[in-house]
Amino acid sequence: MKIIQCWDDGVLNDIRLTELLRKYKAKASFNINPGINQMHERSRGWLYKDVFAVYRLTLDEMKEVYKDFQIAGHSMTHPDLTKLDEASLKAQLDDCKAFLKDRFKVERCGMAYPGGNYDERVKKAVKDAGYLYSRTTKNISGPLPLNDPMELHSHCHFMASEFWDKYEEVRRQDGIFYFWGHSYEMMDDEALWGEFESKIARITDDPKVGWSDIVDLF
Ligand SMILES: [Zn+2]
Repeated sequence: MKIIQCWDDGVLNDIRLTELLRKYKAKASFNINPGINQMHERSRGWLYKDVFAVYRLTLDEMKEVYKDFQIAGHSMTHPDLTKLDEASLKAQLDDCKAFLKDRFKVERCGMAYPGGNYDERVKKAVKDAGYLYSRTTKNISGPLPLNDPMELHSHCHFMASEFWDKYEEVRRQDGIFYFWGHSYEMMDDEALWGEFESKIARITDDPKVGWSDIVDLF
């Protein structure tokens, strides 16, 4: 079985996440919004669950933080793409892709729909902009189908209770298993980080499972 994972929004907790993933030689993609993250200064995003202040990484430090991992697009500024006119939609997609190419040398670029919002018009625009795939927030069961890359679903969120059931089902069929999340959801909660680390360790230790990069599937 192949396993893939991606993480959204370019936040400070990705530093801890990437250190953990490196320890287990786990591959991952990070979906970022280059129009929101500032170049040199970490900016405060929002309060998660009313207690945890989410900070955004700077574009400067991302090169180091995401070294050894894949960077993908999440639009320039995270709007609901279905609500944009043609010109704004195109700018959100083209500018993001051009930025990732210029700054991070991303030649083969994937993306994730901001807020999971997309429709047929958005799908076509993403394809026309030259992205290889785009992740939704819809959950599936069974091996991951790759027949519609602009509507790439995943199995579940990383903390979903059905994670292992779905994982085992895909493993039995030797398919592709895909999960995603936001590192800020673990906040500074050691129990949540510990739980996640044991998940990654179990996957890496599984002789029937290998980490893959999403772009390599297309
Ligand atoms: Zn997002």
